Amino acid sequence: MRVIGDYHTHTTYSHGKGTIRENVEAAIKKGLKEIAICDHGPAHYLYGVKKENIFKMREEIDLLNKEYENQGIRILLGVEANVIGYDGTIDVDDDIINIIDILLLGYHYGITPKSIKDGLFMYLMNPLTKVLPIYKRKITEKNTEALIKAINRYPVKIITHPGSKAKLNIERIGKAAFEKGVALEINSSHSQLSIENIKIALKTGVEFYVNSDAHTPEDVGNMEEGINRIKEAGAPINRIKNIIY
Ligand SMILES: [Zn+2]
Ligand SMILES: [Zn+2]
Repeated sequence: MRVIGDYHTHTTYSHGKGTIRENVEAAIKKGLKEIAICDHGPAHYLYGVKKENIFKMREEIDLLNKEYENQGIRILLGVEANVIGYDGTIDVDDDIINIIDILLLGYHYGITPKSIKDGLFMYLMNPLTKVLPIYKRKITEKNTEALIKAINRYPVKIITHPGSKAKLNIERIGKAAFEKGVALEINSSHSQLSIENIKIALKTGVEFYVNSDAHTPEDVGNMEEGINRIKEAGAPINRIKNIIY
């Protein structure tokens, strides 16, 4: 069993500690064939990547791909976009979508919502479900619907840490993702997908990626947590897109 790529790593362009080059060097040391640089989308008000920097990153990655051509690694430019509205709006536009290689999407706190109403639900009601369980079901379904609308509107490849940050109906997400050919992430830095949620998602036919979500070069390719959950959930390896035998 071998991990061939890490499709979720952060750099100093958001709040990671390493440069793109340092992440790439780390990926080579781990024997990976591909690495995606996916910093947080621009709506994250603390550490979202600045839109103009995405164009800089494109140039940097194109040069690094040439430089590392003979070292057996391919570097992809991505973004870990944020859901910013319940109509499924995300925080990257076509200018960005047209130049990136891979689009990741997830829920995060600390983003600038599309409207005050969207913000109220996402960033006030979601944390409140912990103390007011009465709203949990309603909020879960609302979050789920927004994410499904988003994957139907944008060319999303992977939904990051589904169920972390915002509660989701994993069965509904799995079915919708399967229909669109979108994968769910087993994130090694977050508890989701959990073993239980992997089992639920497996029944929908959806495929998975296991990623590090590294915020330091040392963590690139570190997927032990995720791989342990894959094993515990009994997920067949052929359903994990970045693992081969
Ligand atoms: Zn994330
Ligand atoms: Zn991340």
